[in-house]
Amino acid sequence: MKKLDEVVKFHGHICPGLVLGYRVSVFALKNLGKRAKDEEIVAIVENNSCAVDAVQVMTGCTFGKGNLIFNDYGKQVYTFIKRPIAKALRISIDWTPPHEIEKEKEMWKSYMRGNRSKTVLKAIHQRKTKKIDSILKAKDKDLFKIEYVKVPLPEEAKIYPSIRCEICKEDVMETRLRVKDGKMVCIPCFKGEH
Ligand SMILES: [Zn+2]
Ligand SMILES: [Zn+2]
Repeated sequence: MKKLDEVVKFHGHICPGLVLGYRVSVFALKNLGKRAKDEEIVAIVENNSCAVDAVQVMTGCTFGKGNLIFNDYGKQVYTFIKRPIAKALRISIDWTPPHEIEKEKEMWKSYMRGNRSKTVLKAIHQRKTKKIDSILKAKDKDLFKIEYVKVPLPEEAKIYPSIRCEICKEDVMETRLRVKDGKMVCIPCFKGEH
């Protein structure tokens, strides 16, 4: 299994969101098997936060391979489907961050108001570190709500022929063509954006 530092390297920094995605992925792989080389696992993510970068590195469910499906629901929910059997694991984050004292809350408020003084930055950094530690140490049951669900198995990524847009003369995947004034055009030309 890949290590946390490989995830951090890919993402660019360490943050609580990334570490949550890491924990989700470790749990998913323990239950569903190895990282996907091809499309053995499909991930359906319901947000596009830092956590999703960890999911991509750890599970091999990536945007480019088409086995990462993004539903823009703004929820910390991750569903993993194992091929060829449609066994799906739905992980919903249910974690209580460490308690914050008044002073810590004040620091966060002034950071949000744009205060970047040394004292505030130090406090923000400590707050982040505290959260990361807490996520890394937490038991699975204190981090997630787990369910086994039945979901329809998504189709494997298909390759479609490319057709030339009649306006910009650039190639477009067939299924993304639109008709404008009787011409087959790409979406940006259809919208008049190109
Ligand atoms: Zn991040
Ligand atoms: Zn075009």
